Amino acid sequence: MKAIAVDPGAGEPALVERPRPDPEPGEALVRTLRVGIDGTDHEVIAGHHGDLPDGADELVLGHEAVGVVEDPNGTALESGQFVVPTVRRRPGESNEFFERGEPDMAPSGAYVERGIVGAHGFMAEYFTSPAEYLVPIPAELAALGFLVEPISITEKALEHAVASRSAFEWEPNSALVLGNGPLGLITLAMFESVLEFDRTYCLGRRDRSHPTVELVSELGGTYVDSRETPVAEIPAEHEAVDLVYEATGHAKHAFETVEALAPNGVGVLLGVPEPWEFEVDGGRLHRELVLHNKALLGTVNSHRGHFEAAIDTLAQLPDWFTEELAAGVYDLENYQDAFDAGDDVVKTAIEFDGV
Ligand code: NAP
Ligand code: BGC
Ligand code: ZN
Repeated sequence: MKAIAVDPGAGEPALVERPRPDPEPGEALVRTLRVGIDGTDHEVIAGHHGDLPDGADELVLGHEAVGVVEDPNGTALESGQFVVPTVRRRPGESNEFFERGEPDMAPSGAYVERGIVGAHGFMAEYFTSPAEYLVPIPAELAALGFLVEPISITEKALEHAVASRSAFEWEPNSALVLGNGPLGLITLAMFESVLEFDRTYCLGRRDRSHPTVELVSELGGTYVDSRETPVAEIPAEHEAVDLVYEATGHAKHAFETVEALAPNGVGVLLGVPEPWEFEVDGGRLHRELVLHNKALLGTVNSHRGHFEAAIDTLAQLPDWFTEELAAGVYDLENYQDAFDAGDDVVKTAIEFDGV
């Protein structure tokens, strides 16, 4: 079967031939339909994040997939059922995080991530997975199923953000997304259409004529150009916000987020930056966090419950917006375009088989 693999840091993704996998007991065989691409895939390709599977000299990419069950192999799944796979798997031996159904909370070494860390991904015509990690999705949403994984990332981030504010009456009205890449824009759409914040902002560094900037206003958000208004100046230029969602991977934003928050606000950090040393006024940030009851938290990955919530959320996103995201789906023979599409396309994905 055909697959897309890379030698991280040493080359471009290539179309390779691999044997079709056989499901082990408890696993189903899935025929892949579409697999999305995000900033993490580019970080893996560049060799900045992730790891090869033990003994492998290349990694099959892909962690945002949707497929159809080809062979349930005695599991409770049904042949022809559309499914979305979660990302983390046991690293050989199981551990408490997987036993509790919270693999997203496992520390490094206690998991592998398909297509990212130590396990082959879903960019292949077929993949196998334990049935417990295959989340059924209704047929009418299957074409957009590659959006479930990124939405699930935000479901988890929001769950943790809200939990951190659950000790008091917290009624957020305003939210700021840092980053107008795929994760940032999907999150802005969730903030506008599902959570219905009164006011939303989205920070980027592209000109106002750029298609993604137009999308920000079409979604109902206010665009902030970081070249004109750095994050720390957003309160003076616009307002201090109740929630900040960082999706740039720009390490300074982690600290500037504290300045952008209103009293009692929470900032969630999603980016995975490279090491970078710079100066910060630690005293000022510490004081701000304490005197204004602010919270800052990091969050990674998502579990099955977040995927289930994401499927509900996907159904609530406006059609015009999901159509825009689906416009970046490329056939397998044009897979390179999906990696090189550039910033004009909001989100790209590769189609292995028609829905
Ligand atoms: P992406 O395609 O790299 O998007 C990042 C966006 O941030 C780009 O639009 C970029 O703008 C913008 N940006 C970067 N630095 C900026 C700055 N200084 N000012 C304004 N805008 C800036 O990545 P993505 O797929 O949307 O994901 C966002 C981040 O989240 C990545 O770091 C990714 O690794 C991470 N991530 C984490 C998780 C998790 O579980 N924690 C899950 C998914 C993704 P330009 O394109 O104009 O440069
Ligand atoms: C994926 C997550 C993963 C994270 C860190 C993200 O792009 O969506 O599932 O945990 O990268 O590797
Ligand atoms: Zn991802």
